[in-house]
Amino acid sequence: MPIQSAMSRQKIVIIGAGPAGLLLAHYLLRRQQYYIEIYDRRPDPRQVNPDEQRSFPISLQKRGRKALQAIPGLEAAIAPHAIICQGTVIHNNTKTRDIQRKNSVLTIDRNRLVLALLEQLTSTYPDSVLKLHFNCTCQRLDQQTVSFLNATDHPFSISYDRLIGADGARSQVRQQLADHHGLTCEQIYVPDAYKSIFLSRTNPDKNIELAPERIHTSNLGRNSRIVLAPQPGDKLHGAFIFNADNNPFEEFTSKEEILAYFDEKLPVFRELMSEAEAEDLLHRPVARLVSVKCDRFHQGEHILLVGDAAHAVSPSIGQGCNSSLEDIEIINQLLDQFQDNWSQVLPQFSQQRVPEAHALKDLSDYSFPRSTPLVIEFFLRLTLGRKLHQWFPKTFQPFVFDLVLDSDLSYGEVLKLSQGWTRKSNAPWHHRPRPRKPATSSQIHVYILKLYRVFIKKGWELLE
Ligand SMILES: Cc1cc2nc3c(=O)[nH]c(=O)nc-3n(C[C@H](O)[C@H](O)[C@H](O)COP(=O)(O)OP(=O)(O)OC[C@H]3O[C@@H](n4cnc5c(N)ncnc54)[C@H](O)[C@@H]3O)c2cc1C
Repeated sequence: MPIQSAMSRQKIVIIGAGPAGLLLAHYLLRRQQYYIEIYDRRPDPRQVNPDEQRSFPISLQKRGRKALQAIPGLEAAIAPHAIICQGTVIHNNTKTRDIQRKNSVLTIDRNRLVLALLEQLTSTYPDSVLKLHFNCTCQRLDQQTVSFLNATDHPFSISYDRLIGADGARSQVRQQLADHHGLTCEQIYVPDAYKSIFLSRTNPDKNIELAPERIHTSNLGRNSRIVLAPQPGDKLHGAFIFNADNNPFEEFTSKEEILAYFDEKLPVFRELMSEAEAEDLLHRPVARLVSVKCDRFHQGEHILLVGDAAHAVSPSIGQGCNSSLEDIEIINQLLDQFQDNWSQVLPQFSQQRVPEAHALKDLSDYSFPRSTPLVIEFFLRLTLGRKLHQWFPKTFQPFVFDLVLDSDLSYGEVLKLSQGWTRKSNAPWHHRPRPRKPATSSQIHVYILKLYRVFIKKGWELLE
C-alpha cells in the first residue's frame, strides 16, 4: 500500500471517541492513506480521573478480542486495566454454581478501555495525521460538512471526505440521516434499566473472597439481576439490572435501607459493599437503554454508521461492544477487498452487517428469559442442557449463550440454531403482560419427564 503524505490523504471525520470510533481510527491509520479527525462531546478522558468517572465493565469474548488483537500491541496495552475471566459464578442465598467457559473473557471498565485505545493511538501516530477534539457535540449534517457546538456553545463546521457516525446508541448522525435522508430506523427503550454498582471483591475482616477470575451474578426474579466483573485492584464492578417499571430501590430513602435490602436478598454482596457505596447507590441515577434497528448503515458513498450508532442492543447477552469492534474488523476487510474504494465498501458493509445486526437484536431481546417458567427452563438448559450437549453432542445443541460466547458462528447462524428457545420468549416485551404466576408443578414435571425420556432412550442406544 503506498504511504501518502499528510496533505494528500483522504480526510475521515469520526464522530464519537468510544470503543468503535477509536478502534476504527487505529485500523484506518495503519492503512497510511487517511488523515483522521475525531470529535466527541465528552471531555478528554486523559484529563479526567477514571475513578471519578464511574462506568460499567464490558466483557469481550472472541469476536471483540479478535478485532483488538489485529492491531499489534493493542491487547497488551489494554491488559493492565483488564481481568481475564474463565467463567461465571451464579450466587443464590444458599449455594453457588460455577459455570466454566470454553474460551476466556476479557473484562474491562468501558472508560478504561476507551482510555487505553486512545493512549495507544496518540502514542503511535503524530499530530499531522490524527487530530482529537473533545467537548464538541455534533449537531447537523449538510453537504459534506458537519456542524458542532463546542464547550462554550460556540457553533462551528468542518468539511470531510468520509464521515463515520460512531456516536453511540442515541446517535445524532443517525438522527440526521433519518430526518433528511430517508434512513428507516426503529429506536425503542429496552425494558431493562440499570444502576452501576461498585463493590470490593474481598472482605478480609469477614474472611470473604470471591473468585478472582469469574464474573459473579445473582438472579432476584421479576427480571432483576446483578452482574459483577472483577477489576484490577480487587474491585468488583457491574450493574444492578431491573425492569424499568419495577425499580427495587425506588422507595428507599436511606443507605440503611439499601444495606438491609442487600442483607436480605444478596447477603454475599452485602459483605462487599461499603457504607459509602450504599449511600452513592441510593443517589446514583437509573440509566435507561435503547435498542436500534436500521435498514442500512450507510448514506451514499460518504457517510457510515458503526457500533451502537448502527445497532445498539440490550446488554442482556453482553454483545454490544463485541459486535461494535467486529464491525471495524469487517470494514478493514472490505477496504482490503475493494482497494479502499468507499463507494463499494459502504453498501457492502450494509449488506453484510444489517442482517447480522438484526439477528443480534433478536438474540439480545429474547435469549434472556423474562417470565418465571422460562427462567426455570433457562437454568435447566444452562446447566443440565450443557451436560447433555457434552454427553450427546449430536442430539443436544449447545445453548444459545454458549453459542454466542464460545463459537465462531455468525449471529445469524446462532439465531437459526437457537430458534426453539428464542421463539418461546419472542413476544415483544412491551406488549407482554407481566408474568404473575410461577411455573406450575405440572409444567416443571413435563420438562423433567422429557429429559428423563431422552436419558432412557440414549441409555438404551449406548447399551446396544
Ligand atoms: C450496563 C451495560 C453493560 C454492558 N456490557 C457489555 C458487555 O459485557 N459486553 C459488550 O460487548 N457490550 C456491553 N455493553 C454495550 C457496550 O457498552 C456498547 O455496545 C459499546 O460501548 C458501544 O461502543 P460505541 O463506540 O459504538 O458507542 P459508545 O461507547 O456509546 O461511544 C459513543 C461515543 O460518542 C460520543 N457521542 C455521543 N453523541 C455525540 C455527539 N452528538 N457528538 C459527539 N460525540 C458524541 C459519546 O460521548 C461516546 O464517547 C454494555 C452496555 C451497558 C449499558
